Order: sequence, then structure tokens, then C-alpha cells
Amino acid sequence: MSEVLWNVRLLDLEAGRALDRRTITIEDGRVTAIGDAGGSPPPGARDLAGATVLPGLIDAHCHVISSTERSPGFGPPPLLHGEAPRPAALAQYVLAASGARIIRSGFTTVRDVGSYDDEASALKLAVDLGIVPGPRILTCGRIVSATSPGGAIFDTMYREADGPWEMRKAVREQIRDGADYIKIMATGARSVEREDPEPAQMTLEEVAAVVDEAHRMGYRVAAHAEGLDGARNAIEAGVDTVEHGLSLHRAPELLDAMAKRGIVLVPTLSTFYDLAERFAPNFAPRLVEQAKRQAEEAQRTIVAAHAAGVILAMGYDSGPPGASANELVRMAQAGLGAAAAIRAATEGSACALGLADVGIVEPGRIADLLVVDGDPLEDPAILLEPDRIRLVIQAGRVVGGTRSAPTDIRP
Ligand SMILES: [Zn+2]
Repeated sequence: MSEVLWNVRLLDLEAGRALDRRTITIEDGRVTAIGDAGGSPPPGARDLAGATVLPGLIDAHCHVISSTERSPGFGPPPLLHGEAPRPAALAQYVLAASGARIIRSGFTTVRDVGSYDDEASALKLAVDLGIVPGPRILTCGRIVSATSPGGAIFDTMYREADGPWEMRKAVREQIRDGADYIKIMATGARSVEREDPEPAQMTLEEVAAVVDEAHRMGYRVAAHAEGLDGARNAIEAGVDTVEHGLSLHRAPELLDAMAKRGIVLVPTLSTFYDLAERFAPNFAPRLVEQAKRQAEEAQRTIVAAHAAGVILAMGYDSGPPGASANELVRMAQAGLGAAAAIRAATEGSACALGLADVGIVEPGRIADLLVVDGDPLEDPAILLEPDRIRLVIQAGRVVGGTRSAPTDIRP
């Protein structure tokens, strides 16, 4: 199956400029050629009249869950007192709806960083089997954490383990159960009242055991790290990505080490905003105050990391599904500018996920593409407007957008 996108603008994200009147040929799911669009479009081509083509966006920090707590306006309305209890199976429909929302928003890949009851694995399977539309999903399975207060709150999202050998066993279990990579809690979480996210929650020995076990078997490791000691352990042990990492501006030597070793930072600015402002009334006051401080630190860290040459990825860590570009806009506003923010959400996130075939529009790569009306370099917020999305293409197949035809979309 082939597809020709005629008269599109292509972004050179490294140079921060656009190239007009290009044509992109897609065959068997991959981009095979990029050339000039001169004259009139060949038969069968889609004339996109100068719309902008981006690599399909990638959310590197996404919780693929049926819980709609951080997704106002999405999913079923909250249950009222007196209403009949809802069946547990309803959650699967919410999940399916979120998969559709995500892919139609232009996010062709997400990395799930923890879900309850293995929901992310179930949605991934449903998408892979072609039952429901959705993004390519990479999941960590359960988050490997030391025994901690967070375990009491996050329940089936966690696999608690203590000591290097139990950590190794926990990693092996995730691999057995189909995880695509391993996620650990190097520090506690800002959303848990009884946790202090400053000290290292796992010892260096424990983190090193996880990294050795995962890397030896060919799996990458993502480390949740808020305080500096946990981030230091993670970087020293050689994880592949640091999630949140807000304290790193205080330790330029760690940013240098990340840049040198290709360790990717996923800054998640939106999650600090969520706790500090958006959902502040739902959190214990101490956590809200802590999040305000963290939001400021995260802003400083993103600028310092960019200046140090650390690869940045984009992770929303919030809801509703389909609104992940909010994080891209926040990153642009935090001082990266639009080109670097879009690059983080494409090439940078692909790097975080260890996917060499996506995140760049180039012959030979998988044709995961997003075509939007307007110039996201001028105003990245247009990526949040559904009626500007002309086409979403996943592995060469049109899966959404206002220019898709009913015949494009597989039921
Ligand atoms: Zn998260």
C-alpha cells in the first residue's frame, strides 16, 4: 500500500525552520522518498495545500489508565450518591476511548509509566490485535519500588521489592509478564503525603542490580527521581531515562554526566502544575506547597539541562487523554522555544523509548506522521486544536484527522 502526501511543509527542527512544497512518499508503512512538489499532484496523491508535517508525537511519560481523576471532561461522570454501582468492566471501555483519543490527537506512540491491574498491557494488546484504535504503547508492567508508603496508595501499580536479589526478581517478573522496559522509584513520590521525595528511596546497590538485570536482558530502565540523591544513584548506576528530575539544576556535574552518557531527561512540567494549581484542592496542603517549589525547580532544570546538552523527551504525566501537547507548549514556554520542544516530543522521546525508527520524518523510518494546518514553530498551541489536525498516519496507515476518509479508517 502506498500513499503520497503532496505539497506539505516539512520542519527542520535542528535548524528551527520550515521547508515548503515538499512531497512525501510512503510505501509499506515507511517513508521511502521526500522530494519537491512541483507542478500538479500525481494521481492518487493527497494534496495537503501547504499543511505542516511533523513526526507522530510521542508521550514518554503517560499513565495508560481508566482512572479519570486527572481527566476532567473525559470518561463517565463521577458516580453520585444513590446511583447504582457500575460494573468493573466499564473501565475497559474508558481505556478503549482513551486509546482512540490519544491516537487522534497526533500521538502515535506513548510510553506507559505505570497503570493499575495491568490495564496498559491490556490496551496495548487490544491495539496490537487491531480491536481498537490506539497509539503504539510501550509499558513498564508494574513499577519496581522499595516497600514504601506509596505502595499503600498505588497498590497494583507497584511491585514492591527490597534488596538487590528481590529487585532482580521483580525485574524478571516484569519481563516475564511482557514489559517493554523497567521503571523504578529511585525516590518517593511528590503525591504521597507520607513520602519525602528528597532522599534516595532505593539504595545504589538496589538500583545497580535493577540496571544490571534489565540491561543484560536487553531492556531499558526509567528512574523516577525527584530529590538529588536518588537522581545521583540512578545516573551513577546507568539508567536510560530520568523521570521528573527536577532537582538536577542543583548538580551541574550530573547534567554533564547525563549529556555524556546519553541519559534522557523527561521533565514532566505539567505534573507539578497539576499539584501546585490545577488540582490543588484535592491534595494535602503540604504536598501543594512542595509542588509549588518543585514547579519552580523543574523550570530551572529544563533550561539548565538543555544548555548542558542533555537529550530532553516530552512526558505529560497528566490528563485527559489526547491533551499531551499541553506539556510540549509548557516546555516551549519554559525557555526551550517551539522547535526544541517539538524536537523533545518527537526525536527526544523516541530516544527515551529506545526506538530508532520513529520520531523523525526521513526515508527509511516508520511513517508515523502528523499533518497540521498552520505553523507549530510559530505557535505550538495549535497542536491542541483538534480541527487543525488534517491527518494522523500510523505506520503508513491513515488513522485520523479531518482529511481522512471513512474508507481510510479500519473499524
Ligand atoms: Zn507519572
